[in-house]
Amino acid sequence: MDLSQLSPMMQHYMETKKEYPDCILFYRLGDFYEMFFDDALTVSKELEITLTGKDCGLSERAPMCGVPFHAVDSYLYRLVQKGYKVAIAEQMEDPKQAKGLVKREVIRVVTPGTITSSQVLDETKNNYLMGIVYMDGIYGISTADISTGDFMVTEVDSDRELFDEINKFSPSEIICNNAFYMSGVDMDGLKNRYQVVISSLDSRFFGEESCRRILMEHFKVGALVGLGLEDYATGIIAAGAVMQYIYETQKSTLEHITTVTPYSTGQYMVIDTSTRRNLELVETMREKQKRGTLLWVLDKTKTAMGARLLRACIEQPLIHRDEIIRRQNAVEELNMNYISREEICEYLNPIYDLERLIGRISYKTANPRDLIAFRSSLEMLPYIKRILGEFNSELLAELGRELDPLQDIFRLIGDAIVEEPPITVREGGIIKDGYNQEADKLRQAKTEGKNWLAELEAREKEKTGIKTLKVKFNKVFGYYFEVTNSFKDQVPDYYIRKQTLTNAERFTTDELKQLEDIIMGAEEKLVSLEYDLFCEVRDKIGAEVIRIQKTAKSIAGIDVFCSLSVVATRRNYVKPSINDKGVIQIKNGRHPVVEQMMRDDMFVANDTFLDNGKNRLSVITGPNMAGKSTYMRQVALIVLMAQLGSFVPAQEADIGICDRVFTRVGASDDLASGQSTFMVEMTEVANILRNATRNSLLVLDEIGRGTSTFDGLSIAWAVIEHISNSKLLGAKTLFATHYHELTELEGTIAGVKNYCIAVKEQGDDIVFLRKIVRGGADKSYGIQVAKLAGVPDSVIARAKEIAEELSDADITARAKEIAEISSNITQHKAVPKPDEVDMQQLSFFDTVKDDDIIRELDSLELSTMTPLDAMNTLYRLQTKLKNRWKETE
Ligand code: ADP
Repeated sequence: MDLSQLSPMMQHYMETKKEYPDCILFYRLGDFYEMFFDDALTVSKELEITLTGKDCGLSERAPMCGVPFHAVDSYLYRLVQKGYKVAIAEQMEDPKQAKGLVKREVIRVVTPGTITSSQVLDETKNNYLMGIVYMDGIYGISTADISTGDFMVTEVDSDRELFDEINKFSPSEIICNNAFYMSGVDMDGLKNRYQVVISSLDSRFFGEESCRRILMEHFKVGALVGLGLEDYATGIIAAGAVMQYIYETQKSTLEHITTVTPYSTGQYMVIDTSTRRNLELVETMREKQKRGTLLWVLDKTKTAMGARLLRACIEQPLIHRDEIIRRQNAVEELNMNYISREEICEYLNPIYDLERLIGRISYKTANPRDLIAFRSSLEMLPYIKRILGEFNSELLAELGRELDPLQDIFRLIGDAIVEEPPITVREGGIIKDGYNQEADKLRQAKTEGKNWLAELEAREKEKTGIKTLKVKFNKVFGYYFEVTNSFKDQVPDYYIRKQTLTNAERFTTDELKQLEDIIMGAEEKLVSLEYDLFCEVRDKIGAEVIRIQKTAKSIAGIDVFCSLSVVATRRNYVKPSINDKGVIQIKNGRHPVVEQMMRDDMFVANDTFLDNGKNRLSVITGPNMAGKSTYMRQVALIVLMAQLGSFVPAQEADIGICDRVFTRVGASDDLASGQSTFMVEMTEVANILRNATRNSLLVLDEIGRGTSTFDGLSIAWAVIEHISNSKLLGAKTLFATHYHELTELEGTIAGVKNYCIAVKEQGDDIVFLRKIVRGGADKSYGIQVAKLAGVPDSVIARAKEIAEELSDADITARAKEIAEISSNITQHKAVPKPDEVDMQQLSFFDTVKDDDIIRELDSLELSTMTPLDAMNTLYRLQTKLKNRWKETE
């Protein structure tokens, strides 16, 4: 394309586009953002908007499409959702005042992780941008939410931990170095699973020196030690790269990113990706909804900040006893002072999202209404602070101390901004009377001007005798007299015609023109002064960002504790005691979500006892639908709730802190990655066996279901042997199974205990009692469950006949034998040696080695055979085999 042929504006467009080749350029033209050429083709297709054309100086019109500026946020959001980056070129001067071409500049690049519009962000969730740097076997991870100013850094040294972090934050955008991109991590899988946009950035983002420098400059420190980052060499590079990326896309000073928080993944309970999904902590497995999750039960927060913090607490339960107890004490004190708590909740209710408001204030995108919302939030702070002052628990008292009532800002906004200002900043009507003398004077001139106009209108009416004479105003012609056609003859000579309409004419006079100049001058000056004053107020608030963020964090904390307390009281939860001895003892525990989904106290409570000794592993049997999964998840959820500081649904509970919780529940095909159910199941089992420790809690549901009975039983058996062996693992485990043979392990392997979920037989039917009791179930009641589910009677009757013929007594008898052998082995050797396994495999090969069919197969010279020979040989061998089977039948 010959650029010199293009119109000057299109030349500027092309130059700007050249600077942002990987972005779609939104180019502001009046009330629209326009896109041209390829961008226009892409956007019109992606957003289904009409493609038009624009004369651009070339022989062909440039493809063009546009979106209205007032609705730009939703279009932007849809594009970044689809993985595009959008550069926004704004008009930098008022087109009316521009001499020549209006100046335009890119003011911001919007990407999924850097979008800040309150209209598109979910206020109960953070929107994270994550930087990942892979270097010397270490992953540096830095996570930022630029809408709130949160900024964190950590390091991990395995893929698994990295995925846990990605899963914990579920960022909407990841930026990374090339080494990570090429590290063999399945990028497509990552993108699909987390719906995240990943881009590998240029190496200039990851220079060690430049990363250190940008962090030191941003946080205004002389050395990174001051930020607590000295131990995070790779983390620093990730943080520096994220910072650089935000600077380059936002083109703003980012004053609201005031701290960087380094953390170690060892500070929190490890919950891996599939466990988070299985336990439905913040979204349900299938519908991905909040309803039906632990968050749904616990979230009674009143503010967006509280909602986000509660979600983070659920995602990261604690592992230090003192910290857990500090939180519990806060909840307990609120429970006991429930009137004060209700009062706090009322004050929290009208508080807006201070974190995101201060973000917009720092960005200079906050409008006058935002400031009024800010003020109405601040109004509540002194009351909350006063009530917190009455509390004794360490955490509540601390939150009270940290809450700055910000009354100086409250007064500033109250003095400066009118109660109901417009959203726009450039049309006046923002600043209160009495705030600024100059503004008052201009306002007076404006109102007096209106009186003068009224007087002039009356005088002219009298003078000319035109009864319908009116002074009117519009943006194009300014002030004018309007005379209807019936009085046209009475218009005096000194009236100057401005415009003719079908039924009236419009005029001006010298006097009217003079008045217009005074009024319009005052108006224009006032509008621009009000804009300046508004920006000044906004900047003054922006300068207090640290105080405001601290207060916002404190409000979030109070909101979370009030929420936990409200739920604890309403749902009859108890304060669990927390122990370091590894004992989990729950009396009459309930599943927090299932109980809430049920009507009328239908939920049957159950006890749990697990320890690191004789009660390490419960083998839980019982028919399908008896309640095994519910029970096991209930235990995991109660442990998790206790560790996040919440009270728990039980009559009594003593919870030994768990470092990790693993679950392997149900069979979910991972279609996205193309793995079979059984493969997924075994991958998860492998992960658990490798990473669990003695202090972990394992919930294993129906291990081995995905394969044949014999394989499945053998795997389940071997898994139990491995876990319960305290030298190998010894983790506390709940193991549900439909292989009744596994109940043989109690008494054979130390630490294994049998439990079953009771059912009552009533003739041919069964009734679920939902109660967990000691002992193994002796029947699977599969046919009864099938009947309950509505399988036709004829099929049920036939199934019974077959079951009788097949009697599984054989398998059970065999299981007894194996249990004996295994008991001998474990008595003699605590740890089975791998070569024993090899021995068994060898013996299988030994037997087949002598088989003549196998020998013949082995000796075939495939390279010299024709396809027909091969077919014939195979056919012969197969017939031989079939005949042999016939003989043995
Ligand atoms: P299983 O894992 O044994 O097949 P589930 O745990 O899926 O059984 O439970 C089946 C249904 O039984 C659940 O959907 C739930 O509604 C109900 N249920 C489970 N446990 C209880 C209980 N303790 N009290 C009342 N209903 C329960």
